[in-house]
Amino acid sequence: RELPGDPEPRVFVRQVRNAAWSKVDPTPVAAPRLLAHSREMAAELGFGEADVASREFAQVFAGNALLPGMQPFATNYGGHQFGHWAGQLGDGRAISLGEVVSNDGRRMELQLKGAGPTPYSRSADGRAVLRSSIREFLCSEAMYHLGIPSTRALSLVGTGESVERDMFYDGHPQDEPGAIVCRVAPSFLRFGHFELPASRGEVDLLKTLADFCIRRDFPHITSDGESKYADWFGEACERTAKLVAGWMRVGFVHGVLNTDNMSILGLTIDYGPYGWIDDYDPDWTPNTTDAMGKRYRFGWQPKVAYWNLGQLANALSPLFGDVGPLQAGLERYAVAYTEAEHATNARKLGFAQWRDEEDTVLVRDLHGLMHAHEIDMTLWFRGLMDIDPAAPSLRPFADAFYDPAKREAGEGALREWLARYAARLAEDPLSTGERRERMRLANPKFVLRNWLAQQAIDRAHEGDFAGIGELLEVMRNPYDEQPSKGFFAGKRPGWAKDKAGCSMLSCSS
Ligand code: AMP
Ligand code: MG
Ligand code: MG
Repeated sequence: RELPGDPEPRVFVRQVRNAAWSKVDPTPVAAPRLLAHSREMAAELGFGEADVASREFAQVFAGNALLPGMQPFATNYGGHQFGHWAGQLGDGRAISLGEVVSNDGRRMELQLKGAGPTPYSRSADGRAVLRSSIREFLCSEAMYHLGIPSTRALSLVGTGESVERDMFYDGHPQDEPGAIVCRVAPSFLRFGHFELPASRGEVDLLKTLADFCIRRDFPHITSDGESKYADWFGEACERTAKLVAGWMRVGFVHGVLNTDNMSILGLTIDYGPYGWIDDYDPDWTPNTTDAMGKRYRFGWQPKVAYWNLGQLANALSPLFGDVGPLQAGLERYAVAYTEAEHATNARKLGFAQWRDEEDTVLVRDLHGLMHAHEIDMTLWFRGLMDIDPAAPSLRPFADAFYDPAKREAGEGALREWLARYAARLAEDPLSTGERRERMRLANPKFVLRNWLAQQAIDRAHEGDFAGIGELLEVMRNPYDEQPSKGFFAGKRPGWAKDKAGCSMLSCSS
């Protein structure tokens, strides 16, 4: 509705009270075409390759048809965006089809992103463009193969329809091809699902939703009353800590860590203007909307997640007599994050165990040098595996520098650091073979660098969708050498430095 007297009439959100979800059918699209799928995900869900290739598969995962038993719905959540309460936000373009229960009792919810408007769409169209759908599809699966908790992706379907977006390469409204990703997760519940009823004083709904979430997604929690909620919140905090430590390990920047994009299960969720660190820079954010405040910069992710958990704690406070258990949960985050950070860095550097004071200084100095001398994070850590502790040199890092002058300026300091590192290795009990294997499994050779995804997108816009599958194929084994795939392990090429989609991304999706 429009508000009378509003100088700029806007369409207002339909506020849905005292309900966590609404039934809604996907809006059919003109010409569904399966552009890519994840074979692991398909197999887990019981689809054979013939099923995937069928006409029906593309129809169902475009939202044009339902399989028996599917009962589509959209859920109701709010969130804090860029530090401010934003009210009811979604699901504006995600429609769940239902859940599959596997033979071993695992539940997987299937959710179409971009399948048309829902009662929570505000003034937007409920659709998604091809470029952002390719990015979500690929990164969901890349993250899974990296061993970092994430929502998964089953399929990427082109709709055969175009979508208008107001910000693309040249800043003018532009028609773009539309697409739909089918995401898969045990649950898509976000912090914002709990914040919304709390913000409206709907304590009964808040409690019902919390009980539902615990019963369904945290069945191992068997305590009662307040202890149950305390155990649950504490576990959500711990899972979030491990998640963020995983992102920091591989150089992933989420880009929009609003509370509506935080999974209660500690999964990476909502792949929008995310990015991967090329040259190490803790202050880098891939999100153009975030360019001023840089709230969602790489290096701030641990504290932003903590802030978000604080908002969740606030929302859950009606379930508690006093704030003690919530404070304890937040403390559990801090402890778990520090532990995970130490364990991760020990693995990245190939140490059997973390030696707190000494190793903290070593890592801090390394980060400083990588930042100052524009060193590629992924290539550096992968190269470190090849160091000869008896005679450390910069040879394994030949490709890791972006700027020859900065390389030259850093050579002395880097050699000094390598000597300290070699001395530390000499005191470490791991054999060379053990150390290298430990490092290999912590330092991926292949990550979904922005320019790689953008190349697949550019090809798709030309009608060639094969690049999506080729990229997925490489990302299925990110820790393996894959010698014939060296191209995909390269540092960001010069042409990609300032190209849209390769460095900065807008929220328009
Ligand atoms: P985001 O910042 O991308 O997480 O988006 C915030 C909210 O906006 C999401 O919860 C969506 O429900 C909603 N949204 C984003 N794009 C659209 C769209 N094209 N149509 C409807 N809702 C949308
Ligand atoms: Mg979102
Ligand atoms: Mg989004």
